[in-house]
Amino acid sequence: MRTIDDLGDLRGKTVLLRSDLNVPMDGGRITDDGRIRASVPTIQVLTERGARVVVVAHLGRPKGKPDPQFSLRPVAERLGELLGAPVTVAQDTVGESARSVVSSLQDGQVAVLENLRFEPGETGKTPQERADFADRLAGLADVFVSDGFGVVHREQASVYDVAERLPHAAGGLVVTEVEVLQRLTDPQRPYVVALGGAKVSDKLGVIANLLTTADRLLIGGGMVFTFLKAQGHEVGSSLLEEDQVDTVRGYLEEAERRGVEIVLPVDIVAATAFSADADHEVVPADQIPADRMGLDIGPESASLFASKIEDARTVFWNGPMGAFEMAPYAAGTKAVAEALVAATEAGATTVVGGGDSAAAVRELGFAEDDFTHISTGGGASLEYLEGKTLPGLAVLEK
Ligand code: ADP
Ligand code: MG
Repeated sequence: MRTIDDLGDLRGKTVLLRSDLNVPMDGGRITDDGRIRASVPTIQVLTERGARVVVVAHLGRPKGKPDPQFSLRPVAERLGELLGAPVTVAQDTVGESARSVVSSLQDGQVAVLENLRFEPGETGKTPQERADFADRLAGLADVFVSDGFGVVHREQASVYDVAERLPHAAGGLVVTEVEVLQRLTDPQRPYVVALGGAKVSDKLGVIANLLTTADRLLIGGGMVFTFLKAQGHEVGSSLLEEDQVDTVRGYLEEAERRGVEIVLPVDIVAATAFSADADHEVVPADQIPADRMGLDIGPESASLFASKIEDARTVFWNGPMGAFEMAPYAAGTKAVAEALVAATEAGATTVVGGGDSAAAVRELGFAEDDFTHISTGGGASLEYLEGKTLPGLAVLEK
C-alpha cells in the first residue's frame, strides 16, 4: 500500500484527506471523541510536511442535503482543540465557501469541509451518480490521502472515486488498522472471538468465516437470542432475528464439525422493558420468561467468558455484551473488557472493534493502551475478517 512517505514533497500541495470523524453526538455535544483523536496523527504528519490539509468526513445520516443537526462544525472545533491549531470550517462541501476556504489555506494549515453527506453524490449507488461530486471534490486538491478506516468498506465518492481521480496514498491510521487485522487472519492460538451488539444480521456473516480461523467464539449481546432460539429455547421479547435462526443452527453444526467451541451465556439479565428502571432479574439462559427481554449476559456467564479469554494469545472483540449504556446492563461488557485487559497484560494481542464497543470501553473507564488496538471501524473490520474486498482499500492499489 502506498503511504504518505511515497507522496514526495508536500509543501505547497493541497491534500484532500478523508478522515472518519463520525462521532456519537447528543444534542450537539460529542459524547465520545475517539475517532477525532484517532484522526489527529495523520493530520499532524501532513501539516508537519507543509501540506495544506483539507479534511473531509461525514457525520450521521443526513439525506443528501444540508441539515444543521449534522453539521461538522462542533467536530471541527474539537479537532482544532486536539491539534492545538486553528481549523477553518467551510459552510458547504464543494460550493463557493469550500473553494474559498481551500484557496486561502497556507502551507501547514487545516480546513474542514461540511458534511460529505449533505451532497447526494457522496453515497450515489453507481459511479455515474457519484461522478460530478467526485470531480468537484478532487478538483479542490492535488493529492488524496485515505485515512477514514471506518468507511473503507464503502464505495462512496470521497472514499473510492476521488482515489481514481488524484494521486493517492493510505494514511497512517488505515495502515495501522490493516496491519492489525492482518495479524488476525494468521493468529497466535488460542484465538478467541467475542461477538455481541445489536446489528445482528450484519454480524452473522462474519461468523461463517470466523469458524475457519477462531478456536473459540463467545456470543453475547443481542445476538445471543437468535442462538438460543436455534437451540430450541424461548427468548421472551428479546432481540431476535427470526429469519436467521436456520443460518445460526447451521453455524452451530459447522462449529461442532470443525471443533470450534461456541460459548453461549448460561444466564441472562432479563428485564420487563428496554429501560434502566425496568424490573430485572438474572434467569437461566434457557428459561427467559415470555414477558421479559434479555439485556445483558448474567454474572455466571461473565465469569465463564472471562475464563475462556484467560489463556488466549489473540482476542478479537466486536459488540457489547449487553445494553451497557444503562448501568444495570453494563456488567457483562465490563467483565469481558477486564478479561481482555488481563490477556493484554499476559502478552496476548487484543483488538476491540466496533463504534459502540470502543465507546463502551472508554465509557467504562478503560484506557486506549489497555488493549493492543481499538479499531475505529466496526463494519470495515468485520468485512475485512469476512474476507471481503474493501473497495476503499482496493482502489488504493490502483
Ligand atoms: P458495535 O458498534 O460495537 O459494532 P453494535 O452497533 O452492533 O455494536 O451494537 C451496539 C448496541 O448493542 C449497544 O447500543 C447496546 O445497547 C446494544 N445491545 C447489546 N446487547 C443488547 C441486548 N441484549 N438487547 C438489545 N440491545 C443490545
Ligand atoms: Mg454500532
